[in-house]
Amino acid sequence: MGEPIDEIIINKGNQEMDSALEEIQNFTGKYPKQLWYLFFSEMWERFCFYGMRGMLTFFMVNQLMMDEGQANLQYGATQAFVYAFTFIGGLFADKILGFRKSLFWGGLLMITGSCILAINPHDFFFLGISFSIIGTGFFKPNISTMVGSLYKTNDARRDAGFSLFYSGINVGALLGGYVCIAIGKGYSWNLAFGFAAIVMTISLLTFVFTQRSLGPIGLSPFANSKDGKNRKWYDYAVYAGSLAIIPVIMVMVAKTEYTDWFMYVVGPAALLYIFYEMTKFSWAEQRKLLAALVFIIFSVLFWAFFEQSGGSLSIFAANNLNNTVVGITLDPNGVNNAANSLFVIIFAPLLGILWIWMAKKKIEPNTVVKFGLGFLFLALAFYVFYATRFFASTEGITSLDVFTLAYFIITFGELCLSPIGLSIMTKLSPKALQGVMMGMWFLASAYGQYAAGILGAGMTSPDENATIAEKLISYTDGYKQLAIYALIAGLVLILISPLVKKLMQEVK
Ligand code: GLN
Repeated sequence: MGEPIDEIIINKGNQEMDSALEEIQNFTGKYPKQLWYLFFSEMWERFCFYGMRGMLTFFMVNQLMMDEGQANLQYGATQAFVYAFTFIGGLFADKILGFRKSLFWGGLLMITGSCILAINPHDFFFLGISFSIIGTGFFKPNISTMVGSLYKTNDARRDAGFSLFYSGINVGALLGGYVCIAIGKGYSWNLAFGFAAIVMTISLLTFVFTQRSLGPIGLSPFANSKDGKNRKWYDYAVYAGSLAIIPVIMVMVAKTEYTDWFMYVVGPAALLYIFYEMTKFSWAEQRKLLAALVFIIFSVLFWAFFEQSGGSLSIFAANNLNNTVVGITLDPNGVNNAANSLFVIIFAPLLGILWIWMAKKKIEPNTVVKFGLGFLFLALAFYVFYATRFFASTEGITSLDVFTLAYFIITFGELCLSPIGLSIMTKLSPKALQGVMMGMWFLASAYGQYAAGILGAGMTSPDENATIAEKLISYTDGYKQLAIYALIAGLVLILISPLVKKLMQEVK
């Protein structure tokens, strides 16, 4: 008896998919062309995301008339939820939708969220934000995973690809962060949120019109299976479920005490889930996943320090800095918001080229060492933030030049850790867990953001009427502590690197 006809069709389909994937992954040159498509899609998505993020606190204080403390807590809750939902987005992509449909659905939800805010940001604020939170959860991890799929397992150009992709993220972040709030303050908030909706539409259209070039990458795990058609109902269930959860998110973001509970539960639950999934894989794969978890745990610490930028460093910038960088007059808070993105845009592709060059010479540091370096740069940067106190006037006003230098250094720390982290998630995860592991990577950011707020709050001077000079001392004391902890973390990583390398096996 021959093979049944549908099996023949499926086999033929699988062969075609394999050869299409081969063709994509056999690209010549530094970057595959599909990377550029994903680059632009993510760039516009980040424009919308950081545009909205940049407006949140200001809008809550000045338009919704919340007090500053409450607005800050609410902002923190939003950030924690955004990154926590990437775990769910990654999970459903792996299990049901595939990366492409997840991304499309996430994009639609983000557009809907921005449109709701464009129509009536005052009355439907939390509804709009909740749509954006869940939309980002479906979009953000899955586009990153697709970047990884453009490369063969051992392609040494992968880290460079993620570095370039990371520049795109920061172009979007920089432009969005500036333009949206400027429109809001200068013209109208409806227009500002409407603009975010337009930009997100550009992101989604970019993806829709270029996705054919991705061949089989990101298709549903059931795209070519026998019961693929019956699986449609699973898709609908995910769509319906993600809409049904929106009222719950609204309540949780609006009442920040729930955020604490959410954070206590979601991380341990996610870890337990990963451990459960790990039982289905071989010991070799399990060890790689354990290595991925080591990177994820260290990244929580990294983001907890790094994300001082949105909190304590912005207060420090407002109180304690003069306003010139290399003789040019600039607003210190503008520098605090933009310097890092600008440095990333300039140096990420250069560092990518350096990685490729080093790989050719066989001297490229492996991921554990890159992570260790990331922490050493972080430590040095915080030492420089601390050292600003030595350049201060008696009133406590210090040098924006030195502050900018710290941002220059911290950027290299970020570039050794953040794009490399995305890349290593795609290297260490088996195909069936790529989405959820990328979700875990971003979940670590959620915890980082959460911890950053707590750390920042700990640095404020206990005396509300403290002078500028006293504030300088209390913040820079905090930065010195962070420098020491970052140094210790970097050294620990380098110390345990032989162990982690063993877990990673052939992966570099
Ligand atoms: N700035 C990067 C981005 O927006 C990294 C975010 C993160 O992982 N915390 O993608």
